Amino acid sequence: MENKVVIISGPSGAGKTTIVRHLLNSSLNLEFSVSATTRAKRVTETDGKDYYFLTTDEFRRRISKDDFAEWEEVYKDHFYGTLNSEVERIWAGKNNVLFDVDVKGGINLKKIFRQKAISIFIMPPSVNVLEERLLGRETDSKEKIRMRLLKAEEEMKLNRDFDFTVVNDVLEKAIIETHRLVSKFLNE
Ligand code: 5GP
Repeated sequence: MENKVVIISGPSGAGKTTIVRHLLNSSLNLEFSVSATTRAKRVTETDGKDYYFLTTDEFRRRISKDDFAEWEEVYKDHFYGTLNSEVERIWAGKNNVLFDVDVKGGINLKKIFRQKAISIFIMPPSVNVLEERLLGRETDSKEKIRMRLLKAEEEMKLNRDFDFTVVNDVLEKAIIETHRLVSKFLNE
């Protein structure tokens, strides 16, 4: 069976990460593409598992070496990028790749992988719900949350560039729907 990629995007706080975790724990042969980032590591995170945490200099060096399939300055001075080596590593292990990237990154990855890729936009039910979720997370400062909300409002308009949109109103339903879409695509 040929290797495929699954792209999960959506505004920060839409529930992407929870849905991604469920997909990884199901029997879909999916492996997480560990992105590189220059943002600070959260206490709950592990270097090399959640992200490769790089200095800005190191990140720039890897851009100039053409190491990234795509990269974005997702927030001011905070770079995030998908390493080509991740896709190669995962495909060599005969798994399908799962990307959890921002909206622009998702659109770019779909352009690269085309029919090998399914792109799914996870839509929060409303901006208000998104704000409540980001506040409840308690991992980011008020200022950071404000920044994420502004960006989310812009991003929510870009769902039309994705193959599918799943509204995350009731989490269990969103998980089942995403799993159904991915499972169908991988078995096509
Ligand atoms: P967080 O800081 O909450 O982990 O992630 C912030 C945003 O960056 C999320 O929307 C996440 O999906 C996105 N992101 C993570 N890795 C990448 C990547 O490699 N490329 C792009 N474009 N966005 C990413």
